[in-house]
Amino acid sequence: MQIADQKVVTLDYTLTNENGDVLDKSEGGQFAYLHGASNIIPGLEKALTDKSAGDSLQVNIPAEEGYGARNDEMIQVVDRDMFEPDAQLEIGMQFHAESPDGQPVAITIAAIDGDKITIDGNHPLAGINLNFDINILEVREASAEEIEHGHVHMPGDHHHD
Ligand code: ZN
Repeated sequence: MQIADQKVVTLDYTLTNENGDVLDKSEGGQFAYLHGASNIIPGLEKALTDKSAGDSLQVNIPAEEGYGARNDEMIQVVDRDMFEPDAQLEIGMQFHAESPDGQPVAITIAAIDGDKITIDGNHPLAGINLNFDINILEVREASAEEIEHGHVHMPGDHHHD
């Protein structure tokens, strides 16, 4: 079966940057997504289209087709009192906030200078060219419920919202 819209794909991946540093890696057989539902970055979805179980591929995805370019406007300096007084702030710490249009965004503390905290709302992988090593393990039809929800239901998942 070839990968196409409304197929569920299980794959293993290793994500590295241009220096070969491993940024992320799936647990064997634990990663599945619904193709054609924007569950994964566009560049990866494009590369996987028409592939089949058993295929291995290496994909280089420029930042623009991954998590986008870094945007300096997403970097801001704020006052320490924007945070809870007892919060232990550290560089690299992440927290969640809402953008002005109500979208959830992950914010990273980029620098701390006394009471001035530099926060960065860019995705940690923004601006990075991504290399994926992929082994496709399984391709199956999505269930009607998965298609309706726009995501995969893994065995043992007890969700639902
Ligand atoms: Zn669901």
